[in-house]
Amino acid sequence: MDRQPSRTSIYHDLLDAFQQAGCPVCRLALGAVRAYLDSISREGGLTDLEIRTRLRESHAFCPVHAHQWLESQHVLGTAILYEDVLSHLTAELQGLRYRKRGFLAGAAPLLGGGGRSVDALEPHRPCPACELLARAEARSIDVLLEHVRQAEFRDAYARSGGVCLPHLRSALSAAPDESTFRTLIDAAVARHEALGAHLREIIRLHDYRYSHEPSGEERGADARAVRHVAGEPGVRGMGQDS
Ligand SMILES: [Zn+2]
Ligand SMILES: [Zn+2]
Repeated sequence: MDRQPSRTSIYHDLLDAFQQAGCPVCRLALGAVRAYLDSISREGGLTDLEIRTRLRESHAFCPVHAHQWLESQHVLGTAILYEDVLSHLTAELQGLRYRKRGFLAGAAPLLGGGGRSVDALEPHRPCPACELLARAEARSIDVLLEHVRQAEFRDAYARSGGVCLPHLRSALSAAPDESTFRTLIDAAVARHEALGAHLREIIRLHDYRYSHEPSGEERGADARAVRHVAGEPGVRGMGQDS
């Protein structure tokens, strides 16, 4: 179900994303997750035994992606998927064995007696949407790094809002040479200066002598600054543990 787009198609998708608001890597990665969640339900994905087994092992999705799935209102798909997951969890619940808390608790597995600890209720594999998100982020950053020194692509990138801070960290860590590294830094510094100026304008307008609502280019800069520093909802950036 994870159809990876080609590097050429990511290149063009990035150029398109540069013209939209927000981080282009977040946009592409979140789009890939949305397409994946849709494909599971709409293209008969849940009749595929391999996909069903994979989703059972991860207890469907992590909280973020479970709620994203729910928002898509795949009623039949949800019923099929979660009936399966609940049956699996029921079997696991029935196989659990009580273990007394205390100093003997750690020795319980050595004492034998069958049955499994409460840990058995943890998902046995990571959320597949999280895995796909990380792969989509990595591929987009890879293509960005490959092209960001080429004049046309670099100019389009410089005119865009640039990548969010979590993705800037990933891109800088993976930059193949100093020139790529500097290009990314220069674009980010220019972006921060523009955003900072808009935030200062919001602060100035809030002053009692002015007390005007932001109406110029600074409008929405508060949200843009938060999204830039934190990344889009549901995206954590690669290599972050929490
Ligand atoms: Zn991002
Ligand atoms: Zn997830």
